[in-house]
Amino acid sequence: MLLSLRIYETDPDAKPRPRNPFVDDVVGRVSAGMMQGRRPVALSTFRFCSDDPAVTDRVAELYGGTPEDYDENTSHVITDAVTVDAIVDGPDALRSSLILFGPSGPIHHCDGVEFLEPPEDRGTPCGCPPSLRERKDLARSGRGPKPHIELRFRLHDDPELGYFVLRTSSWSTVAELPAAQDTLEEINGPAKVRLVMEHVEYTTKAGRAVSYHYPALTVIGAA
Ligand SMILES: [Zn+2]
Repeated sequence: MLLSLRIYETDPDAKPRPRNPFVDDVVGRVSAGMMQGRRPVALSTFRFCSDDPAVTDRVAELYGGTPEDYDENTSHVITDAVTVDAIVDGPDALRSSLILFGPSGPIHHCDGVEFLEPPEDRGTPCGCPPSLRERKDLARSGRGPKPHIELRFRLHDDPELGYFVLRTSSWSTVAELPAAQDTLEEINGPAKVRLVMEHVEYTTKAGRAVSYHYPALTVIGAA
């Protein structure tokens, strides 16, 4: 008779999550902003962080900046780079969804139309409004989910360094996803993607000056 524990049958929430190949082997993360204390700060150049200081040292060699301890386990470097060339493995390297985070994790995770999690809600209508305007307003007020975009890549300048994940919640990046996704699917294999910190400046009809940066993704071609 096969002996096997049944403790997760009675408490499915306690079951360890399966390995996530998208992030398990990454050596570092890339972002267009950071937390300073409890305050999110936007940046105008790419920031890399890693739990391996050798990785941030190498990034600084390539893209400038001074590696520093960010917290106990993380080293980070705010580089001088506004452009980073990435190599992705294929169309699955680009993922996007909408997430509203609560104090202990996602409380609304959807594709804009249907829930993606928790598993029991997957595929059921999530109740987000259909118009982009309303989505943005809800997200801004903290009552609706924000974009959660991730690109898994290696550096074109040093692919041997390992995989990084760029993460952004910018609606401007969202606008570029359909074109990027289509091109990645056409290539359907390793591709070169140019990451650029785009600077947007304009004045609203009400006369308010708007200025921000966002990471733009341009698929250059097969790699
Ligand atoms: Zn939703």
